[in-house]
Amino acid sequence: MTLSKFFKYSLPIGIAGIVLSIILFVTNLYYELVVPVIENSSLEGAAFDFFDDLIFYTPCIFMALFAAYLIAGFIYKRKAQLKVEDKVTEDMIGENEAVQKVLDDRAAFLKYKLYTNCPNCGSPRAENETDCRFCGTSLIKNKSTEK
Ligand SMILES: [Zn+2]
Repeated sequence: MTLSKFFKYSLPIGIAGIVLSIILFVTNLYYELVVPVIENSSLEGAAFDFFDDLIFYTPCIFMALFAAYLIAGFIYKRKAQLKVEDKVTEDMIGENEAVQKVLDDRAAFLKYKLYTNCPNCGSPRAENETDCRFCGTSLIKNKSTEK
């Protein structure tokens, strides 16, 4: 079982668990439902106290466990969410860099003055070409100097 499955319903289960534990604890405290059962058993002295305490404090232990489960689930989900956000940000930066690269290339290309026909073989220059397709001669007339 993966952690994401383990914590999938941590919020409703945690809350339900805490509420049930409180109900159990309060019911036990006010109505002492279990006390007659212990009193009718043959338990005495230390054993009686131990089971008496156990019955009262078990719901508290469960309450703490459910609270821990709820908090752990919250932390896990927050971390997972941040991880996804990081991934999305990374992807966006990557995309922006790719777009910037295309724009930079285009800007560099526009700095050149180019022949419309190859000075060597006379074939027409295709769009975005800096070298002749046929003979490989450079089609750059001169680098335009920026002023
Ligand atoms: Zn050529």
